[in-house]
Amino acid sequence: HVGSQQVDRKVDSVCPFCGVGCLLTYNVKDEKIVSVDGRDGPANHGRLCVKGRFGFDYAHHPQRLTKPLIRKPGFPKDFDQAPRPGDWSEAFREASWEEALALTAGKLKDLRDTHGKKSLAGFGSAKGSNEEAYLFQKLVRTGFGSNNVDHCTRLCHASSVAALLEGVGSGAVSNPVNDVEHAELIFIIGSNPTANHPVAATWMKNAAKRGAKIVLADPRRTDISRHAWRTLQFKADTDVAMLNALIHAVIDEGLVDEAFIRDRASNFEALRENVKGYSPEAMAPICGVPAETLREVARAFASAKGAMVLWGMGVSQHVHGTDNARCLIALVTVTGQIGKPGSGLHPLRGQNNVQGASDAGLIPMMFPNYQRVDNAGAHAWFENFWGVPLDEKPGYTVVEIMHKALAPDDDPHKVRGMYIMGENPAMSDPDLNHARHALASLEHLVVQDIFMTETAWLADVVLPASAWPEKTGTVSNTDRMVQLGQRALNPPGDAKPDLWIIQQIAQRMGLDWRYEGEESGVAAVYEEMRQAMHAAISGISWERLQRESSVTYPCLDADDPGQPIVFIDNFPTADGRVKLVPADIIPAAERPDADYPFVLITGRQLEHWHTGSMTRRASVLDAIEPMATASMCQGDLQSLGLEAGDVITIRSRRGEVAIHVRRDDGTPAGAVFVPFAYYEAAANLMTNAALDPFGKIPEFKYCAVQIRRGGAP
Ligand code: SF4
Repeated sequence: HVGSQQVDRKVDSVCPFCGVGCLLTYNVKDEKIVSVDGRDGPANHGRLCVKGRFGFDYAHHPQRLTKPLIRKPGFPKDFDQAPRPGDWSEAFREASWEEALALTAGKLKDLRDTHGKKSLAGFGSAKGSNEEAYLFQKLVRTGFGSNNVDHCTRLCHASSVAALLEGVGSGAVSNPVNDVEHAELIFIIGSNPTANHPVAATWMKNAAKRGAKIVLADPRRTDISRHAWRTLQFKADTDVAMLNALIHAVIDEGLVDEAFIRDRASNFEALRENVKGYSPEAMAPICGVPAETLREVARAFASAKGAMVLWGMGVSQHVHGTDNARCLIALVTVTGQIGKPGSGLHPLRGQNNVQGASDAGLIPMMFPNYQRVDNAGAHAWFENFWGVPLDEKPGYTVVEIMHKALAPDDDPHKVRGMYIMGENPAMSDPDLNHARHALASLEHLVVQDIFMTETAWLADVVLPASAWPEKTGTVSNTDRMVQLGQRALNPPGDAKPDLWIIQQIAQRMGLDWRYEGEESGVAAVYEEMRQAMHAAISGISWERLQRESSVTYPCLDADDPGQPIVFIDNFPTADGRVKLVPADIIPAAERPDADYPFVLITGRQLEHWHTGSMTRRASVLDAIEPMATASMCQGDLQSLGLEAGDVITIRSRRGEVAIHVRRDDGTPAGAVFVPFAYYEAAANLMTNAALDPFGKIPEFKYCAVQIRRGGAP
């Protein structure tokens, strides 16, 4: 460790991991980051978790890509041939930028001109900047010619956003996380904040210390339950039953906020009618929570001065994810717990910039700022703004694109070429054997990344990009704060800024783009994006960000301080009211049976981020959690004759992994939890690609598996 006085320079930026968006300072010595300090940002006030504080040296890892690579003719695109980790020289040869860019842009152009605009698709990144996300979606829409552009929001909160847009007219949070300070009741559902949003969890724990009641509702009894007033360990897949029971109890016990319903909501009668059949007494055996506990929580929620709901992917990653979120919207609406401090709806965003990438239009049905591509007014506005004709049909989503890559040759919408920037679907998609086969089947795949990821391994061309500390740009956190990160280092070797690479491909595909200025014109791109998103960020200029580091949107002019709490007077819906949408029980797409008797739940753990490409190359984090483990409760270990530390093989109808098992009595009986960050035991080999029909999000949180002792991890 080098003391902060001895460093060559200190550069202010933002943590590149989760959506909490902690501001930090990189301490640089001899062109290397040697330590990280927390800054007094609005989301963290100097705090950092283990990832933010110690997970920085991935940027200096010897496996960084430093040259463009072109696949050697005939080298097979499969994982049997994959070196783990490291030497890829058998599969790829180094190339100049000119050769790699000409090859990849030429191939994409040929496919588009031969097979039509739907033959191409792009996945952008929630780990890049807003400017990169904006330019990437603009390239796909104006250069590829379709709306086939998506990113990992599809795997994360797409169902929450579908319900929020439908219900309250905005997909973002209503109140920032640290507004829990003003809440009397904090309802956390389907989220493990101490592992996934650690600094946010510290605000929740602080609130509990000063007397706020935390209610944790989750099939897994995770760490935050130690601070909880009540833990509702409901049976996996019964979210709608439990939430409708809470709404039933609120109505049944005369706790509805009548004035709020009268003045600010619509469709209440339909909701009331629907939840009649969901009494706590009837739902208790289904969800596994005693009826009196459900009633007690409903009373406390309704009578609290402020009750705030925070949720994670335990809510969203189900075939009924949109229905789950509809129930949460209904719960805060019938109790009037929205539009004031210490209340509201907060879907905790996962990736550092999944909020911003979605805002910037990196989704197949929306232009920037959630303007629907099939809305005539929005379509005309963007055609005029970008000066090219645009497709008026929504594009395909992440999982649909994988299906379309394997479509028959005569399908006019068959996807044949892809550009993937900074995402790793060969690890993060459900049913990986299918997804990897789809990626390998493409006629051309170009991957832009900082490491040879599992996805890059299947590429025809690999373009070496910049790590977050090597570039300047903005990201938007879970609280709707637009925050500026500044370049601390130069990229290694011939690696280039992502913004530069996108522009090079665009120009070679015939787009006359000119973004002048430092760092590939990042400020000019931001200013164009600001015009495209004028209804949200028109008051946040580049100069203001350089001055203030962090500004919350909506922010409409230079004097607007930003609005951390929204919906105070009305909702941005057509009639200004919340639309209540009743939901009924829809079971998981694949339930346990005699052959596959256990439920697989996948997720993250504290030390490793997403598919592990960065954190597993961060020395401290890798030292703390070096290998994959599955978690099971003691009762299940005993019934299978297992002990903690044994190797087990977990198998679904789609794939299997061998993995060490650890004891965790917070994991419910009949379930096994596996983190998805480890390529050696890739959890998504087993997951089910069944989709929520509204958000098109896969059911990562529930599928049927069998477990046996033994195997080769
Ligand atoms: Fe980074 Fe999230 Fe940890 Fe903050 S809480 S330091 S943003 S990983």
